[in-house]
Amino acid sequence: MMSLFNIYNNFKKEKNIKSLFDSHSIPIRDYDLIDKKYIEILEEYLNTQNLSRDKLMVLTKMPIEEVSLLMAVANDTRENSKGNLISFSKNVFIPLTQLCRDQCSYCTFKIEPGEGPLLVTPEEVLKSTKKAVELGCTELLFVSGDKPEKNYDIYKEKLKSMGYTSTADYMISMSEICLEENIFPHSNLGIANQSELIRFKNSNPSMGLMLESISERLMDPGMAHFRCPDKYPKARIKTISLAGELNIPWTSGILIGIGENWDERIDSILELNRINNLYGHIQEIIIQNFNPKPGIKMEGHPAPTDLDMIKTVSLSRLIMSNSVNIQVPPNLNSKTYMLHVFSGVNDLGGVSPITIDYVNPESPWPQIDLMKNTISEFGFHLRERLPVYPEYLSSDYIEDHILGRAKKFIDKTGFVADN
Ligand code: SF4
Repeated sequence: MMSLFNIYNNFKKEKNIKSLFDSHSIPIRDYDLIDKKYIEILEEYLNTQNLSRDKLMVLTKMPIEEVSLLMAVANDTRENSKGNLISFSKNVFIPLTQLCRDQCSYCTFKIEPGEGPLLVTPEEVLKSTKKAVELGCTELLFVSGDKPEKNYDIYKEKLKSMGYTSTADYMISMSEICLEENIFPHSNLGIANQSELIRFKNSNPSMGLMLESISERLMDPGMAHFRCPDKYPKARIKTISLAGELNIPWTSGILIGIGENWDERIDSILELNRINNLYGHIQEIIIQNFNPKPGIKMEGHPAPTDLDMIKTVSLSRLIMSNSVNIQVPPNLNSKTYMLHVFSGVNDLGGVSPITIDYVNPESPWPQIDLMKNTISEFGFHLRERLPVYPEYLSSDYIEDHILGRAKKFIDKTGFVADN
């Protein structure tokens, strides 16, 4: 095992890291000048691969002048388990309905009836699916507001007229249709029960539900999750655990900067690790940063700082079992995602051809070329994955009829074969 001193010195020599740190005004302090208590804790991590909650909390206090030591250890942990591969998927996002019974203070997605269509129709779903396949996407990301049928009779009647009993029922049906088009659905329904998950598993190789935060305090009046029954942490933990019982490869994660404190942030990551230790099905956690936008209730609330993100990502890498993939959404971190790669991230999420960057139908992926060039400047290699990660491409996790389809897309590494 390499010493902390050597890990840090090697980290300082990583390709182009000095200019990256300089451009973000992050100093790289000499090892001898770093606070001994941080050195002792990180040495303990290297020896035991484990840290108590109290010691993790001490690391949350690291100042910007010393955070490079934490990054060096997280980067080393990522390198040992994932090498220099950074993954992403080519996806298209289908917001099946933007109606929602919750009222998150940071929401930019929800609409009320009359402000837009009640739902995306099956014809529109199929049209987007065919276009996505034509453009080379392998993932169809289905999202929806949470259980709008509980609040809006007009929506419930609409679903009923189409032959569906719930948003889950509709999303499952659309997933089945899309799978037949040779693209893989990845559904983010929200809270789901066991029978819904069993049905989803028959068409989705993987699914997702963010934990967001373990904090029940955020459900109090004036807080981000006030009047959001679907954000009750125990309900979300139950869905993620049910998925574990069913061996469904699962994407989860946390949302940071929505009013939670460091204790709650660390407890959220520890909870995801606890669930994964029980079931082993959490393929990925996303560290998503709150992004204030005009017009939302939290418009005046500050976004998390770069230092907050670096520490959250690095500590997630130390807490989570090495097999778990860690993602930051590059669209929310377009100037900082390389800092997060050097903090332990190994995935940059879904990239869609249908964005403002989409100008040339002959070359619909300019963002991928950009990402590929950027990460290769730092010595990393970009690979496309399916919505389900290579580690989960087996009949232990995926229905055989989906696995058979998936195998047509991948090479022996489990990543999408280069054409
Ligand atoms: S769950 Fe919250 S963030 Fe998601 S659509 Fe509903 S209100 Fe918006």
